[in-house]
Amino acid sequence: MPKSAQVRALERAMKTGRDEDNLVDMRFDITTCTCRKCFPGPRADPVQTELLLSCGGVWNRRSNSWEDDVDACKTAVVSRVHPGQVAATRWFSSWLPVHAWRRDNPPTDVDLDDDEEVDTDPTRVYSALMSGGRRGGKSFWAALAVVAYAVQFPRAIIWCLSPSRGKDDTKPDEIRRYISPLLDPAWIRRQTIATGWELINGSQIMLKSGHAGADPDAIKEGQADLVWMNEAQKMPQRVYVVARGAIIDKSGLVLCCANPPVEAKDQQWVSDFAADADAGRRASVHISFDPRRNPHVDRKALIAMRHEVDQRTYEIEALGMFLPACDAVVYNWSRRDNEVPRPEPELLPNGDQLPCKRTGLVDVTEEFLRSIELGDGLRNLIGMDFQITPHMGGPVLRAYMDPREARPTRDNVVLWGIDEIVLEGDELEWCAEARRKGYASEDVVIVGDGTGEYQHSRRGEREAPPDWHGRGSFDIIRMGGFRNITRPSLLVKRNNPHVLDRVRQLTSLVCNVEKVRRLFIDPERCPKTCKSLREWPTVHGKPSRTHEAAHLGDGTSYPIIRVFPRIQRSGNTDVGGTSIAQRSDHPISDSGDRFSGRSAPAVGKIKRSYGV
Ligand SMILES: [Zn+2]
Repeated sequence: MPKSAQVRALERAMKTGRDEDNLVDMRFDITTCTCRKCFPGPRADPVQTELLLSCGGVWNRRSNSWEDDVDACKTAVVSRVHPGQVAATRWFSSWLPVHAWRRDNPPTDVDLDDDEEVDTDPTRVYSALMSGGRRGGKSFWAALAVVAYAVQFPRAIIWCLSPSRGKDDTKPDEIRRYISPLLDPAWIRRQTIATGWELINGSQIMLKSGHAGADPDAIKEGQADLVWMNEAQKMPQRVYVVARGAIIDKSGLVLCCANPPVEAKDQQWVSDFAADADAGRRASVHISFDPRRNPHVDRKALIAMRHEVDQRTYEIEALGMFLPACDAVVYNWSRRDNEVPRPEPELLPNGDQLPCKRTGLVDVTEEFLRSIELGDGLRNLIGMDFQITPHMGGPVLRAYMDPREARPTRDNVVLWGIDEIVLEGDELEWCAEARRKGYASEDVVIVGDGTGEYQHSRRGEREAPPDWHGRGSFDIIRMGGFRNITRPSLLVKRNNPHVLDRVRQLTSLVCNVEKVRRLFIDPERCPKTCKSLREWPTVHGKPSRTHEAAHLGDGTSYPIIRVFPRIQRSGNTDVGGTSIAQRSDHPISDSGDRFSGRSAPAVGKIKRSYGV
């Protein structure tokens, strides 16, 4: 039962005698906001404030210790959070007590060889990403978390990192502006403009620079309990690594606030952080602050932005969505939606399948490849690019289908990258690797770069093996034991369909305008393919031919255009104005009407090739 204020006061006076002057109420509360903006509409009853988090207690300045707990405080600094900040506050208040225990009892039962499972329990994470568009309230929220932590844990060390502390040095002002009003002057032992605050309980809130241009290791001094990286997308990943290393002594936390990367100079590691946290691949939480849920800003003005900027800018800047780099060839690739572990239907002894429990899909590769006349008994469709460096090979794809469909067709299958055979080496080394991984000639069809019909990867080398003379990669793969190899289009001999055609088919499968995704890659089994699809850049609006990612991008596109042929231009036509950023992708159809759903290409500009 809570004690009455009088009983508390009496107890305190008895305990401390003449110490009353040394006692400071050091209590910091976070509650829900109940203002008219947060709770509009008629109110019969007053809206109840919910106490989300309460930190601190009565601090004795003479003994430098807690005199009493938070309930004994007669005063408190109270901060209110709007609906868009509640989820983060709830998470933080669940994390704090677990962390409090682990601060004093560092986990000892650590199996250093165990790299099996990542502990993604949100109460036991070591880092958190608060993402969102502008005005979502994430930086203000982080300041609340910093102050709550500093009040709760005496002698805590907290770093607040800003991206820039150059000569004009304006960025720490933002952090100072957020934190200053949250600190009761009675809590402050000393403060300096340059470094921050020291509180009476010994906690230090230190302002530091994580400037991208400066030496990130400059922040490397000793340990910290909590590190706040404000505008993390403007800091190199090295800063995160240093911060992450600094918090390990106390099982602390790196708290990143970030807008999604939008400019080329922004840091892509933040996107990876978000995707990995969302997928449960790291001990981190990711909470997005949707500014549409912040009633304290003019949300009409925010939503009106939609009509003033393009969709992409609106989604990144206003809504805080993580989108692929704007110059990405596979511009609609989503780590969250396209990088998914492969389906695992259960094979029964009689040859039937139980659908995969997670995806509901069955493997129809063999039937599908037979139906499109690629051959019989083929269980794996392999894409292949022939380069010794950076690598030879490509992804292994399979086709899956909802078992309620009668039979697999181009309209109802999805393709899934279930493995990749990629190595630095020549065609024969690739064959050896494929055999080592258990692939056999009779159940594999390879769709390789069509120029492999006449040239091989060791062309131009003086020491190319003599029996390679006059042969192409296709011949050498067959020599290596994989006889079933074909080019990306039956119509284009000794070459490939135009890269824009291939990329269009690829992106149409990745996600069409109806938001249907039909190409998935298993990120654990196909890490290089995933990375290439994410990073393949355009140069002057066209897919890069020289970037490292172009090889596996090509390697993925060959089997796709072979399976979903749709060729609109001949090999070397330069198509002006077909900027990748402006296009939209339409559903791939078997119907034969290759221009359904879009306007026909301008006559005279594009040479068409009809006979698919
Ligand atoms: Zn409010």
